[in-house]
Amino acid sequence: KTFSTGSGTFFGKRRVVKAVQDVNFELYAGETIGIVGESGSGKSTVGRCLVRLLDPDGGRVLMNGVDIAGMSGADLRNQRRKMQMIFQDPYSSLNPRARVSRILTEGLIAYGTSKSDAQAKARELLEMVGLDASAMQRFPHEFSGGQRQRIGIARALALEPSIIIADEAVSALDVSIQAQVLDLLAELKSRLHLSMLFITHDLRVAARICDRIIVMQKGKIVEAGPVGKVLHDPDTAYTRSLLDAIP
Ligand code: ATP
Ligand code: MG
Repeated sequence: KTFSTGSGTFFGKRRVVKAVQDVNFELYAGETIGIVGESGSGKSTVGRCLVRLLDPDGGRVLMNGVDIAGMSGADLRNQRRKMQMIFQDPYSSLNPRARVSRILTEGLIAYGTSKSDAQAKARELLEMVGLDASAMQRFPHEFSGGQRQRIGIARALALEPSIIIADEAVSALDVSIQAQVLDLLAELKSRLHLSMLFITHDLRVAARICDRIIVMQKGKIVEAGPVGKVLHDPDTAYTRSLLDAIP
């Protein structure tokens, strides 16, 4: 799988912000890449361009050789299904007025699964993320932050994607819950042979789960390499400053 946001994504009418520029990388099947960098460095923009929540102003996003950056309609829908996103705050990304059963089944039903098959699948997903089937009848606000993130993960897995894009997926959780959710993600990614793009401002979190790390600064990649290399022998002062920020 090859991803590239090529020449860039720009925001703003009066003052143009080049949010991301010349970002090129490949994500292989079963691999987890971390994107780290300080706030505003363009991490989320990269993730959002990949799933086409944003349209890049230039460049290509190749999925198994097929460019999805210019796609629309049914073709895009079918490609998008293979890429699912997990967000920082599942409380704002989970519909507060929907029960978990609806949250987990609506995507499946939209893609043509029958209601009863979708509900059976939802119960399977809950078990996969370590929640009881009784969760089906409850609303998002009735769960803790860590449990809510498990629901967000279950929802992302419902359509059996091959790629997960996690944007600050554990950043809002306290450290012990962070570790539990990271372990769950690590287990699921190897069990389901998922590729993952793990976006985080926290190098320590990235080190726990990623095979390779990309470091971004001001919209550009300033360093990329295997986790061990980036952590123990970084090429740039910027990466060292991110490491120094770890308590
Ligand atoms: P954080 O760690 O805070 O989440 P980030 O690395 O994810 O930061 P992005 O959200 O990708 O950073 O933002 C990159 C740049 O693009 C920043 O300068 C930001 O202000 C700008 N930006 C992002 N979204 C928009 C938008 N919708 N309109 C205008 N500018 C935006
Ligand atoms: Mg972000």
